[in-house]
Amino acid sequence: MTTSAGPRILVIGAGVSGLVTATALAARGARIVLAERPEASTRASHFAGGMLAPWCEAATASPDIATMGAAAPSWWLQHFKGTRQAGSLVLAPRRDSAELQTFARRASHFRTLDAEGIAALEKDLAGRFSRALFFPDEAHLDPRAALASLTAGLVAGGADHYRGNAEELDRQDFDHVVDCRGFGAAAALPELRGVRGEMLVLRCPDIALSRPVRLLHPRIPLYIVPRGDGVFMIGATMIESANRGAITARSTMELLNAAYTLHPAFGEAEILETGANIRPAFPDNMPRISWEGRTIHVNGMHRHGFLLSPLLAERVAGMIFGEKDNLLESQP
Ligand SMILES: Cc1cc2nc3c(=O)[nH]c(=O)nc-3n(C[C@H](O)[C@H](O)[C@H](O)COP(=O)(O)OP(=O)(O)OC[C@H]3O[C@@H](n4cnc5c(N)ncnc54)[C@H](O)[C@@H]3O)c2cc1C
Repeated sequence: MTTSAGPRILVIGAGVSGLVTATALAARGARIVLAERPEASTRASHFAGGMLAPWCEAATASPDIATMGAAAPSWWLQHFKGTRQAGSLVLAPRRDSAELQTFARRASHFRTLDAEGIAALEKDLAGRFSRALFFPDEAHLDPRAALASLTAGLVAGGADHYRGNAEELDRQDFDHVVDCRGFGAAAALPELRGVRGEMLVLRCPDIALSRPVRLLHPRIPLYIVPRGDGVFMIGATMIESANRGAITARSTMELLNAAYTLHPAFGEAEILETGANIRPAFPDNMPRISWEGRTIHVNGMHRHGFLLSPLLAERVAGMIFGEKDNLLESQP
């Protein structure tokens, strides 16, 4: 609940970064105005898988990702009741078993499963794979439901939700501005680049999965996230491009191939949606908080917006409210 005594803060962008930051600031009594372009196609968060997978991600990114994201599952469990902590499963077809070994060498917080262990967790995968890595502490959520829930929570707590271009608002009316525009801030943050990600949403009622499943491949590692009711998100490509255009035929084939490799029943799936959007990334693929006058930029979430926003939001709140334990040096 906001109080009239708190600082007045404009949060620009209602992707995961803006919403989680606004939630942390509102919890400390800030009076929030949340500005958001109305079109969902402008936010990467709308297209995300919603995996909260610090230990899987650290196997292919910086080990700092695991440290920074380890508390994310519990943050989301507290703030969004649709969060599921059922772990993640990592598999490879027999011909790519070397990929599983490499992944295991780089990862932590997992146990190895044999075919029986896989079948015990996911009965529809029984007999299809002989070895897997299981990360029991990881979690997942439906990003669109989570974003809607955080927005509703902010509005119920007294935040103003402004649907339009934040340039229409006078920044002088605010004590602070927190800029969470994702790739929309590229002109203000010259080092920011776009990393295109493409995804599919399928309906396949013949298969039930309880947790995200990653399928390793030397060139095209992909994942499948269950959304419930026979619906699955299949993602995601990683292409060095800021093009928001429609998914390509090649990417569609690769994503569908992965689904088919996981289980041939996906061959009969209905394609409900295809999508593409731009992950905002700095050269080191790590997020940054930076000051510019009264504006704080929070950006560069790359593949990890849902995973890292809780930590970044606490740091921003620490900077604004002068909490010594929670300060982070700003970076240029
Ligand atoms: C296919 C795909 C799968 C992914 N899967 C995962 C995953 O499983 N787990 C994970 O942690 N991350 C995942 N990510 C990464 C994650 O989605 C991003 O890191 C995250 O969405 C970035 O969030 P953001 O809030 O910084 O930017 P965005 O979500 O892009 O939000 C930016 C917001 O700013 C608004 N905006 C821009 N300019 C203005 C303006 N002038 N005025 C008002 N509003 C403005 C936009 O409308 C938008 O609402 C995935 C990304 C993709 C593309």
